[in-house]
Amino acid sequence: MYITKEGKKIFVEIDRDLCIGASSCVAIAPDTFDMDQESKAYMVGQEIDDYETVLEASKSCPVSAIILKDETGKQIWP
Ligand code: SF4
Repeated sequence: MYITKEGKKIFVEIDRDLCIGASSCVAIAPDTFDMDQESKAYMVGQEIDDYETVLEASKSCPVSAIILKDETGKQIWP
């Protein structure tokens, strides 16, 4: 899944092996993330929050499990 920032795509991934279910990503960006039955985050689907919100959610993750990359594959966060 990707979000758009200044016309460019930013790809969002969750490393579910790292996720400890802290749920702060869901609290900040509920249109992008939700928790599944294993208490791990997943990407919701159609709707997605704006870039700044997703970045804030990513930064809130205590185990840096939400990864943002630009169109070239370069990692933006963490
Ligand atoms: S903030 Fe990080 S650890 Fe917490 S649910 Fe989201 S991805 Fe998982």
